[in-house]
Amino acid sequence: MSKPTFAGSNASLVRAHNLRAVLNHFLNEGSVSRAQLAERTALSNTTITNLIDDLLTQGIVVEDDTETARARASSDGSRRVGRPRTGLRLNPNARYAAGVHIGIGILRVAVVNLHAEIIQNTIANFDVAAPAEHVLNQIARLVKQTIAGSRIETDRLIGLGIGASGLVDYGTGVNVFAPNLGWRDVPLRDWMQDRLGLPTAVDNNVRAMALGEALFGAGRNVGVLAFVYGRVGVGAGFVVNGRAFRGSGAGAGEIGHTVMIPDGGDLCGCGQRGCLETLVSEPVIVREAERLARRRPHSALARCLAQNGQTKPIERIFAAAREGDAATLRLLEGRARYLGIALANLVNVLNPELILLGGMFAQGSEFFLPMAERTMRERAFAGLGDRVRVQPTQFGWRAGVIGAASLALSTFFYQLEDA
Ligand SMILES: [Zn+2]
Repeated sequence: MSKPTFAGSNASLVRAHNLRAVLNHFLNEGSVSRAQLAERTALSNTTITNLIDDLLTQGIVVEDDTETARARASSDGSRRVGRPRTGLRLNPNARYAAGVHIGIGILRVAVVNLHAEIIQNTIANFDVAAPAEHVLNQIARLVKQTIAGSRIETDRLIGLGIGASGLVDYGTGVNVFAPNLGWRDVPLRDWMQDRLGLPTAVDNNVRAMALGEALFGAGRNVGVLAFVYGRVGVGAGFVVNGRAFRGSGAGAGEIGHTVMIPDGGDLCGCGQRGCLETLVSEPVIVREAERLARRRPHSALARCLAQNGQTKPIERIFAAAREGDAATLRLLEGRARYLGIALANLVNVLNPELILLGGMFAQGSEFFLPMAERTMRERAFAGLGDRVRVQPTQFGWRAGVIGAASLALSTFFYQLEDA
């Protein structure tokens, strides 16, 4: 009888744990010395030296010249400038990850470096009525195209992250239910892994956005973060203490399907009536604005909406609001109020430090944010809303694709998902 596998797996678990601690230090602190790493991670000098040697060989960590120079200057010629004082930092271009944001009818693909900076990106539309398999084929083609365009060797790609619409089970990589696409039980992860030969992680697209902001954006060092996104659907993603919060299964953050009107509300894509999504989503606002424009054919709104061009209807509605069209401003303010009530409910349940708004809510943030924020503060329980910061996403339209790529970085590089 032999038991080397037992010892082996324990050793690799310990190593993975140590590696995670070191990589996250680089992510959060930038430049650090071996001595600082040992002190802050409580790992032995030998362990740190071995790990760093390994990371230096792989090119993932580099010696930081400016830090070395500073250390040299501060040591004042006493020649105590050996390795322990040398500044070390992550080389952001040592490895890369790919990300895919699946929106409703839109795909965004990007290759990013270890700091989630976009190296190459591609945008394409897809037919929401097409079977899932057609869309998956299109995604695989776009990913290959984007990787080829980035000119990065495939052995430097650590994996692919996909942010999908609706309910997604991160553990199984299955897109369980996407009402706005009519998808049920689409095995996104396994399908992409087989097709592309890249380790793949899949999560809800808004949860991925929240993760991207928590690791690389406005949500760094925020204890409890909520990201609220509005387009065709309305969803939320939460990050608690640096980890994506996934509830007990596939769903957490389905704020779009919280019931705002218990009786007589409009029918939602999910089959229920009166959901938040039936009041503040992009198609609903466009439909309401078109109705207003028909009633006021000489208004700025009617003129803006009638303009033919590259802009989407929602952008033309924002343009009318920027011109001061009173009916448009009233419409947006009314919808922002519903959003604010949903945010108040969210604050009562989650008590976040920061709420980031994305998608249409960020694009038209001057119309949504003030009313939504005020309503949230007025309606949240016992002043819970007073300390919550509300702001648009730092990443703008890139939030989805940076989030998806962050999911790959978090899973396959920084290893934050399995602890
Ligand atoms: Zn619904």
